[in-house]
Amino acid sequence: MNWADLFEWGGWFGLVLVWLSLGLMFIYSLVEKEKRAATRSGVLFFLFLVFLGGKFIFTPQVFDPFSYLGVSLGWLALLTIFLILVSPAPRGTIKVSSLPARVDERDVIFARFDLEKDSPLYEEYYHQHEHLRSRDEEIRRLPDLLDRSYWEKSPWEFALAEAEFDFIEELLTLVEQPPLSSRFTFPPDRATVMVKRLALYLGAKLCGVAAVENSFIYSHVGRGPEPYGQPISLQHPYAIVFAVEMDLAMVANAPQAPVVVETSKRYTEAAHISIVLAKTIQKLGYSARAHIAGSNYQVMLPPLAWKAGLGELGRSGIIITYPYGPRVRLGVVTTDLPLIPDKPVSFGVQDFCAACLKCARCCPAQAISKGERQIDNGVTRWVIDREACYRFWRQVGTDCATCLFVCPYSKENNFFHRVVREITRSSKLAQKLAVRGDDFFYGSRPQARSSPLVGLTRVNSPPHQKQK
Ligand code: SF4
Ligand code: SF4
Repeated sequence: MNWADLFEWGGWFGLVLVWLSLGLMFIYSLVEKEKRAATRSGVLFFLFLVFLGGKFIFTPQVFDPFSYLGVSLGWLALLTIFLILVSPAPRGTIKVSSLPARVDERDVIFARFDLEKDSPLYEEYYHQHEHLRSRDEEIRRLPDLLDRSYWEKSPWEFALAEAEFDFIEELLTLVEQPPLSSRFTFPPDRATVMVKRLALYLGAKLCGVAAVENSFIYSHVGRGPEPYGQPISLQHPYAIVFAVEMDLAMVANAPQAPVVVETSKRYTEAAHISIVLAKTIQKLGYSARAHIAGSNYQVMLPPLAWKAGLGELGRSGIIITYPYGPRVRLGVVTTDLPLIPDKPVSFGVQDFCAACLKCARCCPAQAISKGERQIDNGVTRWVIDREACYRFWRQVGTDCATCLFVCPYSKENNFFHRVVREITRSSKLAQKLAVRGDDFFYGSRPQARSSPLVGLTRVNSPPHQKQK
């Protein structure tokens, strides 16, 4: 075999790799019920099959367009793979330029909308924050989240979500108990392994440990059972941060009722894990506090999750985890049990988001920035218009989650998507190709799957009770 043959067969090898990748994508798309991706990858797989077959039908002596084109395409694919493999570590990382100031929980949008209209607290707050008054009042005129006026189309889902939220509120008294006086001592590395194992055993999908910095602690209580406006003084030096996965089939209904069902269910799961984990630590003689939705958070979860190595902050303002993207809910337990903090991770989200814009394009409220990152309270990030987002939630009566659903990182955590995540980790070329590929195969504006009972009907009924 001479150099010319080697060159030709190298090209065909590259082309076969592309063909096999399309075949793999076709199979995974069928399994994931991704119709558009399955159709497109299937058609391309078939065309490549014909193309490759053509190599053996036409002979070079007569006419061989397949060889010229095929070898060129194959080498282009090999060159792309080579460039991806030799690319350096992720370039963009989250930058903290100055020590962020502590956030007052009373300024958080949910705390503002918990205030009873025209009450003394309401008047006092808006007297001090006049710039927020008119926009907030305009939003307040819309029905509240889960308002009965929204129940007509999906009464079971809304009732279920409300029941979950009611249940979480019942749990608020359990978040903190005094530790037992007899204390077990553990080496920090062993304790760190054990708290992570416990969280995963209890149902978390990811778990990490962060050192609690002052700027991660809210300055004053804005929600929950503790007195409104009370200064928060949290002495726990460590936070055990975990994530529970949200079901993609449910999130794919965004922005309809199944999303709030899924959100409330995962908040309940997170509350269960947090409370049991905190109680376990208390029984071993250490102080611990569960921070749960409902709400009694004393700490801000996204920066803690980033510090604990669970993921990176994306354009949509949500933590993007490596295996599940933004399709998670976070939970946290703070404690004085000595632990070893993890380090933040970087797997190319900042660069990927800079090229992607899909969430910004698809956001029905235009709440996600299409521009550059800005310095916001010392952190370089994409700034979200929280009021526009929340207004849309009240227009539909449920949380929206369109930005979770359309995010390329939200795909199922299977072999195919893990390979894609791995090759887009550091290469800008791979990131640009993946962004274009995601638009081509899954749509630049993926359509929500309108199946209100999707999560509920998947529960298998006994044969004699099949659902109609
Ligand atoms: S939840 Fe919906 S409205 Fe809010 S930022 Fe995401 S896509 Fe936009
Ligand atoms: S949709 Fe794209 S831009 Fe938005 S968070 Fe996901 S990767 Fe980033």
